[in-house]
Amino acid sequence: MATYTPMIKQYLQVKADYQDAFLFFRLGDFYEMFFEDALKASQELEITLTSREGGGEERIPMCGVPYHAAPNYIEQLINRGYKVAICEQTEDPKTAKGVVKREVVQLITPGTVMEGHGLLEKENNFIATVTVFSNNQYGFACSDLSTGESRATLIKGSMDELINELSISGAKEVVIESTLPPEIQQKLKERSILAFSIEDNSDVNENFSALFSELDEEALITTTSRLFHYLYRTQKRSLDHLQKVTVYQVQQYMKIDYFSKRNLELTETIRSTAKKGTLLWLLDETMTAMGGRMLKQWINRPLIDKTDIGRRQELVQLFVGQFFERQELREKLKEVYDLERLAGRVAFGNLNPRDLMQLKRSLLQVPVLKDILVNLDHNEAKRMAERLDPCEEAADLLETAIVDHPPISVKEGNIIRDGYDHQLDQYRDASRNGKTWIAMLEREEREKTGIKSLKVGYNRVFGYYIEVTRANLHLLQEGRYERKQTLSNAERFITPELKEKEELILAAEEKSIELEYQLFTGIRETIKEYIPRLQALAKALSELDVLLGFAELSEQRHYARPVFSPDRKIHLKDGRHPVVEKVMDAQEYVPNDCYMDKDREILLITGPNMSGKSTYMRQIALTAIMAQIGCFVPADEAELPIFDQVFTRIGAADDLVSGQSTFMVEMLEARNAIMNASGDSLILFDEIGRGTSTYDGMALAQAMIEYIHNKIGAKTLFSTHYHELTTLEKDLRKLKNVHVSAVEQNGKVVFLHKIREGAADKSYGIHVAQLAELPQELIERAAEILQILEQTDNQSSDVHDLKNGLNTIRPSAEENLQARETAAAAQLSFFDEEPGQPKNNKASKKEKQILEQLSELEILDMTPLQAMNMLYDLQKKLRK
Ligand code: ADP
Repeated sequence: MATYTPMIKQYLQVKADYQDAFLFFRLGDFYEMFFEDALKASQELEITLTSREGGGEERIPMCGVPYHAAPNYIEQLINRGYKVAICEQTEDPKTAKGVVKREVVQLITPGTVMEGHGLLEKENNFIATVTVFSNNQYGFACSDLSTGESRATLIKGSMDELINELSISGAKEVVIESTLPPEIQQKLKERSILAFSIEDNSDVNENFSALFSELDEEALITTTSRLFHYLYRTQKRSLDHLQKVTVYQVQQYMKIDYFSKRNLELTETIRSTAKKGTLLWLLDETMTAMGGRMLKQWINRPLIDKTDIGRRQELVQLFVGQFFERQELREKLKEVYDLERLAGRVAFGNLNPRDLMQLKRSLLQVPVLKDILVNLDHNEAKRMAERLDPCEEAADLLETAIVDHPPISVKEGNIIRDGYDHQLDQYRDASRNGKTWIAMLEREEREKTGIKSLKVGYNRVFGYYIEVTRANLHLLQEGRYERKQTLSNAERFITPELKEKEELILAAEEKSIELEYQLFTGIRETIKEYIPRLQALAKALSELDVLLGFAELSEQRHYARPVFSPDRKIHLKDGRHPVVEKVMDAQEYVPNDCYMDKDREILLITGPNMSGKSTYMRQIALTAIMAQIGCFVPADEAELPIFDQVFTRIGAADDLVSGQSTFMVEMLEARNAIMNASGDSLILFDEIGRGTSTYDGMALAQAMIEYIHNKIGAKTLFSTHYHELTTLEKDLRKLKNVHVSAVEQNGKVVFLHKIREGAADKSYGIHVAQLAELPQELIERAAEILQILEQTDNQSSDVHDLKNGLNTIRPSAEENLQARETAAAAQLSFFDEEPGQPKNNKASKKEKQILEQLSELEILDMTPLQAMNMLYDLQKKLRK
């Protein structure tokens, strides 16, 4: 260190405080990086690595990006989960003695980006924090710095719920205490969070008390303070737009755990995490970015309070019935910009003139929106109208002060309207008059000199000039024209009067630009006082936007307003899966009814693969969720309970991140449902037990059904390929069999996608294999095996059990036989209603005969079919 140059010493000192970030160190027009940062950044950003002398023994690796191109590079780093500390020169290099002072002015992290393409319009960008308290309590809080909203909740009991809240928030960054136990840190890391940050300074701080008025629990204050400390420490500027922290309880909303959300593809698809194909994609008819974000929050947190849902439904219904007003409202909303993020930029101080124009345009829509709502003459519409605060004084100010098309830059003038400020008008007059004078000068000079090609012009370096071509120079009067610049075939001159006017114009322009800047910042400060009102307005507009979108969709797609059943009845007439229906041609989609009540709590769904079992199950869950966010639902008539929770176990969503096997994930998800569901919940289990051997899987599936039936009483849809389970209907009073029908035509299966009462009679697995174009030879062989299996009265006839069947027919390895025997034993104990008495150990005469016959068999000389038939005969004798 001792031998480094002063500047490198300064660099190292600053860097010591920002070990986990790239330090962008300002040197003139560049941000430079040194040492390790330079090596890493040159790779990440594909920029040239160089080096420089720094006083040490070796040259120091270095790379840099131009100041004006920095945002793009910063964004690349942030999107990859890195942090970037911006270190600026904080004194004028011209007047500085020694090394110019430098300071970090902002730490940019994935959870705190405010600008750039990395920030998606219709997405919140949350940064979260978690605290673990000793008494099984967890604090959770998250903030979106770009919109200023924050939420906090105290979770009692389960760590899973904490992780769940975190996952649902979609936070990109988590702020933790360094003392957070490593195993919890590990669990958090599994949730595709981009960055972790440590903040230990979490004492309660007076500064935040205004934001904490809703927080009454010490634990929440501790948690939220940490987050705010971090934000203030890293952002180092005004965060006046931070809104009051909202406290919520997870029980206030319908609970859908993270896996179920993914399985149901609410906001991202399972495969690609894209929005297309999700419920959010279907429902997003919003006109504003704020509305888009609000919709996503609603989908993540459906309501459970009937009155609250009813309010939303009332407006949707009203808008469905008022086509013209709805279109007008939506047209007006199109003109509304992102008020929440504009408010954030007002506070941050990086609001530009164009932003002010956007604010103005947005505010001007509000009175019109209000009028339309009031004229609808409906209580809920009036309530909404009252919430729309036009912020008149702010709107007036912007209207009188800001021109219609201001530039983005604050330093080039053309922001403020004429007539807003007297002094500014005077400067502008001076410069305009001067310009008129100059325009006339050209004509006068041409007349005076007789040179037709004479020109008066302006450039930045030389100012105003009179240009005369070389051939005409002799026509100029001696002494009056002073030479300014020589071109290849012309000369440029200035005269004393022109010089005088030029000074006047330039001074006036300079002064007016300076004044405009001052006026602009003044207006910005005034607008700052409106931040809370703008945020409240933004919230009301977002809700209006979402509800109008619901109405639009409900009308277009013929959705029905759901009625909430007091006695937990589900009755859907001609229900549809909303997303599948949209993707498909409407005529192709086969609607289905669903009826469940206290005597039909579990529907066991059988039917061929690909017939529509899982579509049907998802349809019911999506319908319930749509109902509880206030939207109408894809059915002709709908009656539904209000569900407290929805659980799903659907499809093969391998948890690759945490490296768990499919079957383990399946069991974890099943456990989650079984441990947490109540009589008011909805459970969807799709093909439980697939990930393990047939008997294992079937046993587990049956045990789960019994458990839910006897102990939980949740409304449950259970699809299965184990046809054996359909016999449960006899024993479990509230379980009913339904199936998706299919018919065989010319040896091919045709799916009708229609749900019918009763169990499916056949599984059609081989037909599906045929549809999938497996080799014909293989299909024929499978059909042959199936026939044998059916003859031998084997219980499993599904295509997935063929493996076991094959093993029986080709007893090449002893283990196969053994496995089969164990399985058969298990089968007895699972499916014999009353297991038989233990058999006498002594072999009877008949058994001895059979054993003899067995030992004499020449198995190697037999075809598998002969062996199978023999086995069948022997068994038949034994059973007689
Ligand atoms: P399963 O769960 O029985 O294997 P899926 O629910 O995955 O079957 O459905 C398979 C395909 O059948 C779906 O991708 C969809 O294209 C189609 N489908 C399902 N239900 C319907 C329906 N009601 N009307 C029309 N097509 C349907």
